[in-house]
Amino acid sequence: SGINGNDGVAPSLDVAVVGGGIIGVMTAIGLRRRGINAVIYERAPTWHEVSAGFSFTGAARAWMEQIDPALLELLGSISQKTDASSSNAYWNGYHPRTREEAEDASKSLLFRTRTKNLDFWGCVRSQFLQGMAALLPEGAVRFGKRLVSYDDDEQNGKVLAHFDDGSTAEAHVLLGCDGIHSTTRRVLLGADHPACRAGFSHTVAYRTMVPMDVGIAALGNKVARNACNHLGPGADLLVYPVMSGTLLNMAVFAHDASEFPDPDKMTVPAARGEIEQLFRGWSPPLADIWKLYPEKTVKWGIFDLEQNPPPTYARGRACLVGDAAHASTPYLGVGACTGVEDALVICTLLQAVQQRALGGDALRDALTDALQTYSRARLDRGRWIHRHSRDMGQLYHWRYGPTGRDPERMKRKLEENWAAVVTYDVLAPLQPDAVRTGMA
Ligand code: FAD
Repeated sequence: SGINGNDGVAPSLDVAVVGGGIIGVMTAIGLRRRGINAVIYERAPTWHEVSAGFSFTGAARAWMEQIDPALLELLGSISQKTDASSSNAYWNGYHPRTREEAEDASKSLLFRTRTKNLDFWGCVRSQFLQGMAALLPEGAVRFGKRLVSYDDDEQNGKVLAHFDDGSTAEAHVLLGCDGIHSTTRRVLLGADHPACRAGFSHTVAYRTMVPMDVGIAALGNKVARNACNHLGPGADLLVYPVMSGTLLNMAVFAHDASEFPDPDKMTVPAARGEIEQLFRGWSPPLADIWKLYPEKTVKWGIFDLEQNPPPTYARGRACLVGDAAHASTPYLGVGACTGVEDALVICTLLQAVQQRALGGDALRDALTDALQTYSRARLDRGRWIHRHSRDMGQLYHWRYGPTGRDPERMKRKLEENWAAVVTYDVLAPLQPDAVRTGMA
């Protein structure tokens, strides 16, 4: 059946998707393609995403295609592709004393990682979200709807969502795609549960995008085509091309021992002098990198669920999808890719329920079971991602015990982790045997 709704025999399931971020929108598209009536409830007055770069692995693109081939087509049309034979390069940002030395691979390239299916396609977040939004039919999204709570009363055939404007909405299932500070998670686990609060990873980020020629002038030609990361003590600089290679996306990540000034906000205003301070004494290109930032910038606090992971992603007829379930630090670079995996799993499971064309109690039980299967299939994976992502942050910042400053060990560890990221069989836990024995 088409994206506009169910034209098959089974009655359409109604699904409330709370949150119109990357993963909520992708999930809604996948559900609608399966004839399920998904409606997005987004708290913002319109689509909002920052115009920062982010990227998807080859593995995530394969899952995306299964959700809906139109997603891959869209991504392909707006992203900068690194080719499959290319690699991620890790440079020593600290020791080189001259620009020449810093750009000389024989002296300053620490290592490259090559892993099949890791080839990233980089795009601009807001552009991808807008493109996905255009795939949705009229009426599939309600803006200005901030979820405050929901009732999942066994007596009712549907879950009842409450929004801050006093309005309500009913659906057979509620998917919380409401990000790291998820309200759905708070209702699902109870307001006192420790997993309701994201924890500060003690790392921060400063992000910007610059025209490619400016990036090349600052960092040399090595940055022009593929992702590369400059490592050193307590900080790193990640750059990769976006917008058909016309812009260079830049992110400085740094260890920060103190508490984040405002744990309820993701960003605080910052002066670029902070970046200058961070890289004082590093190799010349890094020491000067602050000049590419606007005078007044922002500092992102990096929060995740590593300290207090949710014990389950599902209860009754509600579940958590994307960052709401497993918000991660960005050091593995696959937070959204992991959400893509969630989206495919939940779409697959709900499609199976819909095809059974059940009603009443049988439908409610089937949905509850499906969401438990979802949680079992995703819980270990989500935790693995945020745990190993933190390790990778420490590795980049030369603070990770097992690898220290040894490029060989860093490379081995990274390739081991990347392999686990891109060779994971997302749908395997849904095989009948796995479901029956409860293994995931
Ligand atoms: P969000 O993007 O947070 O969207 C949640 C949505 O829900 C928002 O629109 C919000 O307004 C809405 N919402 C919140 N509360 C409510 C409510 N109560 N009611 C209604 N709506 C609500 N991942 C990658 O795979 N590749 C990358 O290159 C990458 N780079 C990253 C770089 C940085 C610096 C960071 C911080 C993260 C990066 N990630 C990356 C991770 C990625 O950004 C997230 O995993 C992804 O955005 C999660 O999407 P989401 O839709 O689950 O949540």
